[in-house]
Amino acid sequence: MSTTLSQTALHDLSVQALSKALRHKQLSAVEVATHFLQRAQVHSAIGAFVAIDEEATFAQARAADARIAAGTAGALEGVPIAHKDIFVTRDFATTAGSRMLKGYRSPFDATVVNKLAQAGAVTLGKLNCDEFAMGSSNENSAIAPVGSDSVEPVRNPWNQDRIPGGSSGGSAAAVAARLAPAATGTDTGGSIRQPAAFCGITGIKPTYGRASRYGMVAFASSLDQAGPMARSAEDCALLLSAMCGPDPDRDSTSLDVSAENFALKLNDSIEGLRIGVPKEFFGDGLSADVRASVEAALKQYEALGAKLVPITLPRTELSIPVYYIIAPAEASSNLSRFDGVKFGHRAKDYGDLADMYKKTRAEGFGDEVKRRIMIGTYVLSHGYYDAYYLQAQKIRRMIADDFQNAFKDCDVIAGPVAPTVAWRIGEISDDPVANYLADIFTLSGSLAGLPGMSIPVGFAAAQADKGMPIGMQLLGNYCQEARLLNAAHRFQQATDYHLAKPAGF
Ligand code: GLN
Repeated sequence: MSTTLSQTALHDLSVQALSKALRHKQLSAVEVATHFLQRAQVHSAIGAFVAIDEEATFAQARAADARIAAGTAGALEGVPIAHKDIFVTRDFATTAGSRMLKGYRSPFDATVVNKLAQAGAVTLGKLNCDEFAMGSSNENSAIAPVGSDSVEPVRNPWNQDRIPGGSSGGSAAAVAARLAPAATGTDTGGSIRQPAAFCGITGIKPTYGRASRYGMVAFASSLDQAGPMARSAEDCALLLSAMCGPDPDRDSTSLDVSAENFALKLNDSIEGLRIGVPKEFFGDGLSADVRASVEAALKQYEALGAKLVPITLPRTELSIPVYYIIAPAEASSNLSRFDGVKFGHRAKDYGDLADMYKKTRAEGFGDEVKRRIMIGTYVLSHGYYDAYYLQAQKIRRMIADDFQNAFKDCDVIAGPVAPTVAWRIGEISDDPVANYLADIFTLSGSLAGLPGMSIPVGFAAAQADKGMPIGMQLLGNYCQEARLLNAAHRFQQATDYHLAKPAGF
């Protein structure tokens, strides 16, 4: 190990630094995997992992070392990552946070998992998430974390009494606690951006269709999108480059846009970049701390040469009812496959077939999932379809048009990710509407299918929330991921919020 490397703990190395050290044989993939698996054990109280299989990880690591030795290393050869437990994996069980899939083993890997493996990444395990990715706090998981016999909430490494955000809460907590240098997440209405913000890390959801949905347990198919979560924009760029690309045979909605090296433009100047600031993102519901940090970040952008442009996204508030009609509608249809016949949970005692369906679904699904199935079934039912689902679809189009109008005057849009910092475990867990309202700033970008990211921009100062991380959201026009990552990277070169580390990790 070189001196610079030995001075830095392995888990503090970036994806970029790890991959360089691995390629130059200063570290071996087995050595790196051993270090991270030990950390996962030491910090199991965070509850981030729901599946670990050391043998499977070591087999992948040994294969990576062999490719490095043979000179055939991929871009991420030997770099350990962990996957949100919504991606199906052959080597690890996949639960999607649900009793319905407890112990389920997929016969194939999700395309995203496959692509990262082809780039040489080594899987450390699977990360907790809200059941079927429905939630904003990770409190909706029905799965016990590794090291525990009972279902426990994932804890935010910055304050273990707080939620890590959701639905990719395990991913965000694992990266923030340095249990993995990077993780995958999925974002249907904010589930990469919001937990990244709550845990002080960086995450990007690409344009809808840039990453294949094949092998992602479906929540709302017109919204679901995979993306990386890491500590910096630079690391996200490396992962995203490996994750994206057309998959026409397996995902008919995957975009016919070739894979791209998102790291190429990271260092471009942002002199003259026009940053749209939507007035609707800075209204009354925004906490003073979040406002102050986001405004300071905007000032920093001005200092870097960007220009702030006031814009309007007039239907921001409508994104909540629109999303909470469309997403449950699609979920109710997607989840009809869990009937106890082909895979997953099946009730033990039942009468006829209908009784088997009923009991299986009553036992297998948690409350939030059932709530959404009911809402979705209702809004799609004869007599209500026109009043709810169709109306929501029309407004969805208008929301997308509002963004196109805004992008006439700006190159990227910036604002808060969430109105507050991470709340306390249990604080609003029995109030679904309060959870839905907290998604206000992330839903519209999802409904429009735009790429969006979250970068750390500060910490709460108010006594009640002291030290909790704050994220800023950057939204771009379709396929402008490279521009977002460039804007994020330039900010991170001028600031050190993304380098801050929770105490004890
Ligand atoms: N919080 C939102 C929901 O509960 C978004 C979840 C997601 O993006 N997967 O649906």
